[in-house]
Parts: sequence; C-alpha cells; structure tokens
Amino acid sequence: QADMAMYWAKQNGRDNAKFFQPHMAKEVTSHFQKEQEVQKALDCDQFYLVFQPQIDTRSGAVFGFEALIRWQHPEKGLIGPMDFVPLAEESNLICRIGEWVLEKTLQTQVNWLESGITATPIAVNISGRHFISEGFLAFITDLLKRYEVPGNLIKIEITEGVFIHDMALCIEIMAGLKALGVEISVDDFGTGYSSLHYLKRLPLDTLKIDKSFVCEIGDQAEGDKICEAVVQLAQNLELNVIAEGVETSQQAEVLNQLGCYLHQGYYYDRPLSETAARVILKAQQSHTDIRVS
Ligand code: C2E
Ligand code: MG
Ligand code: MG
Ligand code: MG
Repeated sequence: QADMAMYWAKQNGRDNAKFFQPHMAKEVTSHFQKEQEVQKALDCDQFYLVFQPQIDTRSGAVFGFEALIRWQHPEKGLIGPMDFVPLAEESNLICRIGEWVLEKTLQTQVNWLESGITATPIAVNISGRHFISEGFLAFITDLLKRYEVPGNLIKIEITEGVFIHDMALCIEIMAGLKALGVEISVDDFGTGYSSLHYLKRLPLDTLKIDKSFVCEIGDQAEGDKICEAVVQLAQNLELNVIAEGVETSQQAEVLNQLGCYLHQGYYYDRPLSETAARVILKAQQSHTDIRVS
C-alpha cells in the first residue's frame, strides 16, 4: 500500500500532491496488475510476431517485412499492441519487449536463411525510450554476433518523438547502428515533431508516410498534397520512402504517380504468420529462379 501511495503521488505530480485515499487503490492496483500481466506474458511466452510484407510496385516483389507484436492472452484472447505497448512504454518493460522482438526476429531470420530463402530484411518497431536507453546498441551488437546474422537483415523503426530528447545521443546510436549495417526508418512520418533541421542531421535511411495521410488520398486533396510533400522531401534528402496503410488500388496508383513505389498495406497483404510469410518468399524465389533459368 505504501508503494502504491507513492506511485499514485508520483503519477499526479509533486505540485499536485494529494493525500492517498483508499478509493484510489483500485486504479493503482489495476495499473500494477496490467504491468505484472505484461511481465508474465514475457515470462510465459504469450507474445508472438506477425509479418506484414512490403512491396516494391516497380517489380511487384516483396522486398521486406515489418514485424508486429501480438499477445495471445490465456483468458482475454488476442490483444493488439495498442492495448499494451503504451502502458509498457511508461516503464522499462518496453525495453524487455523490444529485446524480445529483436531476438525473435533474428531467430526468424536464422530459420529463413537455413531453409534456403533469399535474405530479406525485417523491420522492427523500437520505442524511443528503449532506443536511447543504455545498452541498446550493445544488445543489438551482441545479438547479431550470437545469431550470426548480418545487420542489414534487420531495420529499426522509430517515431519522430525520440529526436527531441537528445540529438547528440540519437546521432551516436544511429551511427553505431549504421556501422552494424542496420538501417533506420522514421515511422508514422508527419505526425510528430521533426523539423527539417533534425532530418538533415540524422543518419536516416527511410521515411514511412503515416497511414493517416495515405487513407486521405482521393478523399481530400490535402491527402495527396501531404504525401507528395513527403515524397519530395525524401527525394531531396536522398532517403527512401515507404507508404504504410495502402488499402485501395486508387491509393496505390496515386502513390506510384508521386514516385513512391514502396508500399505496405491491406491492399497487398495483412500481417502474416511466420509460416505464411515464408511461403510468400519461397514462391517469389521459385518464380525468379524459373525466370532466370
Ligand atoms: P506501426 O508501426 O505504424 O504499424 C502499422 C500498423 O498499421 C499495424 O498495426 C498494422 O497492422 C496496421 N496496418 C497495416 N496495413 C494497414 C492498412 O492497410 N490499413 C490499416 N488501417 N492499418 C494497417 P498494429 O499491428 O496494430 O500495430 C499498431 C502499432 O503498435 C504500430 O504502428 C506500432 O507503433 C506499435 N507496435 C506494433 N508492434 C510493436 C512492437 O513489436 N514493438 C513496439 N514498441 N511497438 C509495436
Ligand atoms: Mg512501424
Ligand atoms: Mg506507422
Ligand atoms: Mg504507429
């Protein structure tokens, strides 16, 4: 109870200090319980990854995947990341989740390579808190060594929010990742805080146009305009640009006309099981083999 009272006081800020009342216990308990449940999910292997293909529309080929986390809860059933990632981001739990995702992704890469599949990168979402935490770079370095997987088989997706924390630290970590061959994408681009100043100074590889802009294509002229602006910005800064949340042929067509050929979305594929993702790669490979021979 003492812990809880302190926790509650902290959550409400010092200036706003209130006395702990018994009725407050319920809210605090459920927060603690949720954190404990997430910890338990990690310990009991209740998480799994799904993989959404990323398509190069010029060739029609899958050039990569994004790994997305899912939680198979023993009582509550399937839980999506929006229902536990924000909570986990309030503590270092998000770092444990990020480490789990990275390790699972490398295991998947090893499985794919061992079954003779052409090397295909997998992008992983890393929370800003984890990205700038001590030991992040060392963890990735060690993991790549341990699994003997080249760094260019994983990509890191981060959101713009992380840049405002500590520019110098971000640059240092990104440079370290670069040295390992790990590429960096800015996720949900356009929804955050990045100024052009940040973008120019950071060693980034890819901008991902947020799906809120992609879904406005055709609907409203602004949707097209924002996508166009991001594509031009990426071209000027010599960055790749991926559109996420592509759901219709019209959106795909407009994006192609704007010069954005890397797409991800339900129009092409939903996030898939590891097996289904592997089948797609195998099929693509045998198709290429036939064409070549
Ligand atoms: P995100 O990284 O921007 O991922 C894209 C989200 O859009 C995914 O939702 C994906 O399933 C969904 N999506 C893909 N194509 C379409 C489409 O055509 N239409 C629509 N409406 N949605 C589409 P999901 O899997 O629910 O993930 C939501 C967010 O949760 C992610 O957004 C990411 O911020 C976070 N997240 C997911 N997995 C992880 C993870 O392993 N670690 C961390 N830290 N965050 C994660
Ligand atoms: Mg992402
Ligand atoms: Mg996104
Ligand atoms: Mg997002």
